[in-house]
Amino acid sequence: PAASSLRSITVLGATGSIGDSTMDLLRASPERYQVEALTANGNVEGVVKLAKEFNARFVAVADESKLDELRAALAGTGIASGAGDSAIVEAAERPADWLMAAVSGAAGLKPALAAVDRGATVALANKECLVCAGDFFMDRAAKAGACILPADSEHNALFQALASGSREELTRVIITASGGPFRTWAAADIEQATLAQALKHPNWSMGQKITIDSASMMNKGLEVIEASYLFALAPDEIDVLVHPQSIIHGMVEFRDYSVMAQLGSPDMRTPIAHCLGWPDRIPGRAAPLDLAKIGSLTFEAPDYARFPGLKLAYDALRTGSGATTVYNAANEIAVAAFTAQNIRFGAIARLVEATMNEWVRAGNLAPLSSADDAIAVDHKARKMAATLLPQIAAKAS
Ligand code: NAD
Ligand code: MG
Repeated sequence: PAASSLRSITVLGATGSIGDSTMDLLRASPERYQVEALTANGNVEGVVKLAKEFNARFVAVADESKLDELRAALAGTGIASGAGDSAIVEAAERPADWLMAAVSGAAGLKPALAAVDRGATVALANKECLVCAGDFFMDRAAKAGACILPADSEHNALFQALASGSREELTRVIITASGGPFRTWAAADIEQATLAQALKHPNWSMGQKITIDSASMMNKGLEVIEASYLFALAPDEIDVLVHPQSIIHGMVEFRDYSVMAQLGSPDMRTPIAHCLGWPDRIPGRAAPLDLAKIGSLTFEAPDYARFPGLKLAYDALRTGSGATTVYNAANEIAVAAFTAQNIRFGAIARLVEATMNEWVRAGNLAPLSSADDAIAVDHKARKMAATLLPQIAAKAS
């Protein structure tokens, strides 16, 4: 194709699990894409390797101390580079038609908004940024003419199934959950689970933070909130269904009780391919679904008693006014503490609950209307969670 028909692509978080799946799809049809910018946190070697392979125009790493290393690794390539949070934002501002937002955590908010504000097509994997800024994120995208395509598998499934009817005809959506490695565990065992046990996801291979979130089902909580903001759904319109095989990713029920589902192998390359091809469909890279081989699909109701983090997500949505920002911020602190082996697994949800309660008690609730508001609440909630952490860690369940 002529140079003008090339699709220009930026990948934020190119060295991560979602980044890797995205690059795999680009690699399959290099003649269709021009890579504009690639970013990473601190993995200079990984991002430079990709930048050279795809002949990217710009590379940024968030870790400022790595600028010299980055410049040296790119010497002679003609590829421009930068380091620090502002360089990640610069990467998002550069004129790519399609951008994958796959930074992990609320750290991805500013760059995602930079892409939204210039009206880009944004494939959104970074659910924490939407949970952090849900009060205004989608409005801001609509105002800028940006197109948000859900890359998270459940939300991508809903996006596809929603095309079968109108908003008024919809009665509810259902997102599925594998149940994670502790699906069948007793509460007392979940309380004591080790880091190695939490990192053993039965179906999906993902980054460390989301893998721990899947074990606590905080990931599903984040996804309930994500669905609410993406599709303007009330908490009562969103159900979670445990489905250990991870074959059905999401379903939409309409008022005639027809239920439309999206199915596929548990491989993020399928929802990412949908985002990359949209509104057309491009060839996939995951294994085609073989239902005869899988044999049976099973379902269970989620258990809020063993996975209290899921219930807290509904509470945060109902509370509104920054409560989902607090939910996410406290979870990020809790996951970091658990990863550093400073708290027990069971303390993750307790810290989130304690932080949310303290936030409301201190009279901090207020609607968020800007990135600065969201980031201020995020920072303040992180501090509050860090302050509450020692007493939560000391208290057995
Ligand atoms: P990951 O940890 O594998 O990768 C994260 C990427 O972001 C890396 O490239 C890393 O260098 C970069 N990064 C991390 N911190 C950063 C910072 N402070 N500033 C700039 N860049 C930073 O994570 P992942 O599993 O690929 O997940 C990415 C996002 O996608 C998360 O929000 C996650 O919830 C979501 N998601 C992931 C999956 C999956 O299968 N992995 C599925 C659905 C949604
Ligand atoms: Mg998901």
